[in-house]
Amino acid sequence: MKFDSICIHGVKKAKNENFSHCAPIYATSTFEFENVEHCLKAFDRKENTYLYTRWGNPNTKTVEDKVAALEGFNLKDKRGKPIILKAQLFSSGMGAISTLLMSLLKPGDKILTHGSIYGGTAELMDTILPEIKIERIIVDLKNLNKAEETVKKNPSIKIIYFESPANPTIDCYDITGLSSIAQKYGILTVFDNTVCTPYLQQPFKYGVDYVVHSTTKYLNGHGTGIGGILIGKNLDFMRNRLFHSLKLIGTNSNAFDAWLINLGLNTLPIRMDKHCSNAKEIAIFLRGHKKIKKVNYLGFEDHPQHRLAKKQMRNFGALISFEVKGGLNAGIKLMNSVKLCKLAPSLGTVDTLIIHPASMTHAGVAKTIRENYGITDSLIRLSVGIENSTDIIEDLKGALLKLK
Ligand SMILES: *Cc1c(COP(=O)(O)O)cnc(C)c1O
Repeated sequence: MKFDSICIHGVKKAKNENFSHCAPIYATSTFEFENVEHCLKAFDRKENTYLYTRWGNPNTKTVEDKVAALEGFNLKDKRGKPIILKAQLFSSGMGAISTLLMSLLKPGDKILTHGSIYGGTAELMDTILPEIKIERIIVDLKNLNKAEETVKKNPSIKIIYFESPANPTIDCYDITGLSSIAQKYGILTVFDNTVCTPYLQQPFKYGVDYVVHSTTKYLNGHGTGIGGILIGKNLDFMRNRLFHSLKLIGTNSNAFDAWLINLGLNTLPIRMDKHCSNAKEIAIFLRGHKKIKKVNYLGFEDHPQHRLAKKQMRNFGALISFEVKGGLNAGIKLMNSVKLCKLAPSLGTVDTLIIHPASMTHAGVAKTIRENYGITDSLIRLSVGIENSTDIIEDLKGALLKLK
């Protein structure tokens, strides 16, 4: 089956005793056993046996199998064998990230990251993990020599953790380059693919070990729930150590959220195509506007990582950012003037979302610190939706007109 058909049909047809056309929602905390043998099979986690929803549920399983198939779609290993992946659904993107890191790391270990990772992930690494003696080292991972030098100098680095494109500055990192460094020094790579989804980018093709997503964003696509997913190629780790953590930390998903993600996944490819084509039109419009200082869009040939993005992504994505002339106040004015674009701290939904980090999401972060990561006073982040692009452009045009 092709990618877009897997998005709709999944990999295996679930048992369906009542011939319901759409999947039922298994709103149940526990599962019954026919007899003791059946119960033992469930405890052994034999295929298609369920025990208790914290351990798994038919709805969560459907999403896991589908996303594993999409992340691994058409991928082959060095010997030409299909790459088999296993996925685990979580209560949130943060649930997936924290459970994975706690399963891979122990006190004394270090994580190498770039500066502009997702705010929640950064905070986890800077506040919670140090309490159990796990620290992060920040380096500009666009510089592969520097990345390698750092790994070489610090044997306690056990993971390279990165995102590409990184939000909100839309920097792009070389997945093959960083994965090769990790392999050379026998350490692991964890990659956050939320902003791309497997439709735009398949990180396993470039050698990463683990992929995480906030399904809250494009995979669900409609902003109807919080969720996360982890995909790994070490099947033994996924099945045993990772599952053990999930089960005992309790960062599991649930039937209804999984059902919503599965519904959203049906339309992933056509949504992504439209998100991307809209983003291109809007980036071009913004770049031509006299009140705009700079537009960060990977599709522009003069973006410093345009060629890298073209190599590792199918299209340039729909998360863009730009700077307006007039600093902090101009950013605030723009926020208070848009109507169609919604001021909401998320991304990847069918409607267009806009954020002014300096006055909103990063208002509590010292200016010098945020500017280090490219979050300037007038930087605006736009998660371009799938409305008609002329309506989004009209909304931005009207709001920009209000700036002095
Ligand atoms: C939203 C987001 C997360 C966190 O996901 P939640 O579902 O909100 O817990 C992690 N990484 C990226 C890139 C995100 O955008």
